[in-house]
Amino acid sequence: MRVGIGYDSHRFDDGRPLVLGGVTIPDGPGLAGHSDADAVAHAVTDAVLGAGALGDIGRHFPDTDPANEGADSIEMLGAVVRRIQAEGLRVVNVDVSVIAERPRIAPHVEGMRARLAAALGTESSAVSVKGKTNEGMGWIGRDEGVAVIAVASLASTRDDPDTS
Ligand code: MG
Repeated sequence: MRVGIGYDSHRFDDGRPLVLGGVTIPDGPGLAGHSDADAVAHAVTDAVLGAGALGDIGRHFPDTDPANEGADSIEMLGAVVRRIQAEGLRVVNVDVSVIAERPRIAPHVEGMRARLAAALGTESSAVSVKGKTNEGMGWIGRDEGVAVIAVASLASTRDDPDTS
């Protein structure tokens, strides 16, 4: 069993759509960023890479690379999952906390769980997404942006029962 942690933050940008966990959320300001700025997908990607000791999202998808401009972060997560699978690892579960004063996360949790699970190669039941506010404190409390913390656990596929 291997465990990794991921963290990401993005500043609000009213001129862009808000995408979190692969779900476009209509009732919130968007996020600034080189890709689609999906802070949930980015934190989960770093948690998966961390568990595999395979570096971080910036190493695999540099924001200096024009190919990553406006990129679909769920696709980047899927690519990282294929990478850890090539290392003989699979995702067991993921837990995510989204910290922001707005928008409300709860109405979008099931959609995010489904999109993340599809990219992670797991069931939705192995993916947890929770929303919290920062009680008005600090930059999050001033409504400047979103922070996300994610934890992922991986297991070796060599321990899986042989189904062939
Ligand atoms: Mg990011």
